[in-house]
Amino acid sequence: MSDAAMKLVVVGAAGRMGQTLIRLIDSMEGVTLHAAVARPGSPFVGKDAGEIAGLGPNGVIIGDDPLAAFLHADGLLDFTTPGTTNEFAALAAQARIVHVIGTTGCSDADNAKIAAASRHARIVKSGNMSLGVNLLSVFVEQAARALDAADWDIEILEMHHKRKVDAPSGTALLLGEAAAKGRNIDLSSQSVRVRDGHTGARETGTVGFATLRGGSVIGEHSVLFAGEGEIVSMSHSAADRSIFARGAIKAALWARDKKPGFYSMLDVLGLSS
Ligand code: NAP
Repeated sequence: MSDAAMKLVVVGAAGRMGQTLIRLIDSMEGVTLHAAVARPGSPFVGKDAGEIAGLGPNGVIIGDDPLAAFLHADGLLDFTTPGTTNEFAALAAQARIVHVIGTTGCSDADNAKIAAASRHARIVKSGNMSLGVNLLSVFVEQAARALDAADWDIEILEMHHKRKVDAPSGTALLLGEAAAKGRNIDLSSQSVRVRDGHTGARETGTVGFATLRGGSVIGEHSVLFAGEGEIVSMSHSAADRSIFARGAIKAALWARDKKPGFYSMLDVLGLSS
């Protein structure tokens, strides 16, 4: 593996996660900001990326041509939108660079396109890049396996800031998948995403989701195992977006010398079973 600093491109450079990534790259050894990309037509195109991120000028001017930005880069950090991530997965595969995907709300069709790109690219994708949530998902899988579905109902509660556009959050779904794996069930057919009106009694064995939105909350998640007379709850609280950014950069460095393929944060953190 090369000893040179890994050249990273931040797409969605003016977004909440984009700015956090630019600040963190600046403070870390072993990585350098190669290019920054915003949506064509964005008012941030042509501006200095460091200035937008609150660092002061760093000489990296935000562009709107992803292919040019990826050409001599080593990796791409992508916290944007599902459509954009799809498009970038194909371009990153062409450029043979690492693609770290934090974008949430991807449909099955989006995920299929991303998986196709991973035949040529090293892709790390996770609904949550933090160490804490990935560790929590391991505990949730174990608890779901140990606590019988007939006696223990699983409910996942999340809250995020009012500008979040997808629900349930990628993290809530990641935790739901961990619970489903522990129970050996298919989450898509066994989940209850919303409840409204006369719903009837809770169906045994399902995984329920509840979504709250408001204010500036970065990410609160709880998984509740509700039994007769007792509740086991496991929670994660994100106080700062840098936990996701740190995980994304760690994922890029980890994937640098890996074979093309589709990886998760559990692989990066050595937590996959
Ligand atoms: P945000 O502030 O809205 O940032 C998204 C950025 O992407 C915006 O600046 C947007 O620009 C830009 N963008 C859209 N289309 C683009 C294109 N074609 N080319 C380049 N840039 C483009 O949102 P955020 O809070 O940073 O979150 C972004 C995504 O990451 C969401 O899906 C969120 O759920 C997810 N997320 C994941 C994790 C994790 O750990 N996996 C953690 C936090 C957030 P415009 O505003 O100009 O459209």
